[in-house]
Amino acid sequence: MPDRHDIIIIGSGPAGLTAAIYAARANLHPLVLEGEASSTSDQPGGQLMLTTEVENYPGFVDGIMGPDLMANFRAQAARFGAQFKTVKAGKVDLSGPPHRIFAGDEQFEANAIIVATGARALMLGLPNEQRLMGYGVSTCATCDGFFHSGFEIAVVGGGDSAMEEAIFLTKFASRVYLIHRRREFRASKIMQERASRNDKITFVLDSVVTDVLGESQVEGVQLENVVSGEVSTLPVHGLFVAIGHVPNTDLFKGWLEMEDTGYLITKHGSSFTNLPGVFAAGDVQDHVYRQAVTAAGSGCMAAIDAERWLEVTAGADHEIAETPRNW
Ligand code: NAP
Repeated sequence: MPDRHDIIIIGSGPAGLTAAIYAARANLHPLVLEGEASSTSDQPGGQLMLTTEVENYPGFVDGIMGPDLMANFRAQAARFGAQFKTVKAGKVDLSGPPHRIFAGDEQFEANAIIVATGARALMLGLPNEQRLMGYGVSTCATCDGFFHSGFEIAVVGGGDSAMEEAIFLTKFASRVYLIHRRREFRASKIMQERASRNDKITFVLDSVVTDVLGESQVEGVQLENVVSGEVSTLPVHGLFVAIGHVPNTDLFKGWLEMEDTGYLITKHGSSFTNLPGVFAAGDVQDHVYRQAVTAAGSGCMAAIDAERWLEVTAGADHEIAETPRNW
């Protein structure tokens, strides 16, 4: 027998847990499928579990550690009756409502599903990069730039994200080395020009990062020039990896409308997807802002959309509430 709920939330980052707080306070007894810690990019609590200090989440004057913030979110949702299952959804059947989710031998069913599976930053795949994540290695300049005030740091990547992060980081760092594996950039011309006009940015081209150095904090990176083969060390206080993000949407292929890049498409100004009773919140549908606070805000929107949708469709033909209404 499937485990039946009013609302199931898939994902337990800021979007999923905020949705859980709102749905629980609306007496909808949400179940959160919070994922399993199988890799650094896939774990309960989402990307904030990989950060150290978070200083830009409103309400915490002195900042808070990422994992502590997520523990608070979870405890707050649990306080109002949200239930949690530490399982990873492996398959969905969204032909309902009711919609079905399969995780191992378990089967779950709900009329409303909130997809909050987030996105993951692509990483270089170096063992020391993973070890020093949150200790100088970062994937978010907005979050961590401040910690490098007055220091020399490096950004790796050649797309718009790398340019944007490098330019932003010059507000704090005394020098930003932009390391890219070839001479041509994927970034738009305007972003390239802005970065090259900034005299605090030094381009290190035809180069790959082969190691991240430092015991308890990044102290440098090892580089290899892919043309000459020369190996060198660049002493830097931080490494920002800006080589792209991928949304965690494989599970929903064939069911939910998504952009070519895999981000879910929501109807303008709402969390409604193309399917009745399926809502999306957080980074899984946002490649622009990607902040904890924007994810939390969109989790709130999804819970309110789902709650009102459930109200409207209770005992009615679900098709009638397929599109967002002007609430
Ligand atoms: P992207 O355009 O896919 O660029 C990724 C960059 O990382 C590429 O230069 C790539 O090198 C490099 N890279 C990938 N894997 C690597 C690896 N293992 N080692 C070293 N380098 C690696 O990603 P993005 O910059 O995050 O941008 C994603 C999308 O968002 C784009 O459409 C972009 O225009 C948009 N965006 C726009 C803005 C803006 O307009 N302000 C800001 C940010 C992002 P190669 O080029 O050699 O493949």
